Amino acid sequence: MVAGPLVGVLALQGAFAAHRRVMEELGARTREVRVVADLEGVDGLVLPGGESTTMSLAVEREGLAEPIRALAARGAPLLGTCAGLIMLDREHLGVMDILARRNAFGRQVRSFEADLEFLDLEGGPVHAVFIRAPWIAEHGPGVELLASVDGHPVAARAGNVTVLSFHPELGTDTRLHERFLADVRAFTG
Ligand code: GLN
Repeated sequence: MVAGPLVGVLALQGAFAAHRRVMEELGARTREVRVVADLEGVDGLVLPGGESTTMSLAVEREGLAEPIRALAARGAPLLGTCAGLIMLDREHLGVMDILARRNAFGRQVRSFEADLEFLDLEGGPVHAVFIRAPWIAEHGPGVELLASVDGHPVAARAGNVTVLSFHPELGTDTRLHERFLADVRAFTG
């Protein structure tokens, strides 16, 4: 049997375990990434939801910022969800030309679910779980917006990097993980 691609899941903080489980159910091998050496040999990277301030501090502490940027620059697919979206924006890792607005759907702890029409995804809307989610307040010309809530972009893609404001690892719809894995497989050839 041919081994599946190796997907790294940033595991400094937050909702990494559920991402791992979904990826493995879909046939990928996964590795929790906590230090630079963990990135060796990964074919793609998931940045999970959690708390972006805590995650940023941990990324800095471990010296992971530059290696993550280098992985993206090599063309490896990256998927940032919720706090992971924030991590990839201009003010954090600078991997994607977007500016995230944190906790954008309300000042209080605000969580909700919504059915999202996704550009170029077959099989109907995605049922999405939002937990103190950001939205994309600004984006550069190379960024393709994929879905929005009340006119605010909550999913986008630029080349090999995809960001989602919500938590695709919660629930039973695995299409967005499948799409990410298809990108990873294409990258590994
Ligand atoms: N509100 C969190 C932040 O700003 C993100 C929430 C999440 O990842 N579910 O970092």
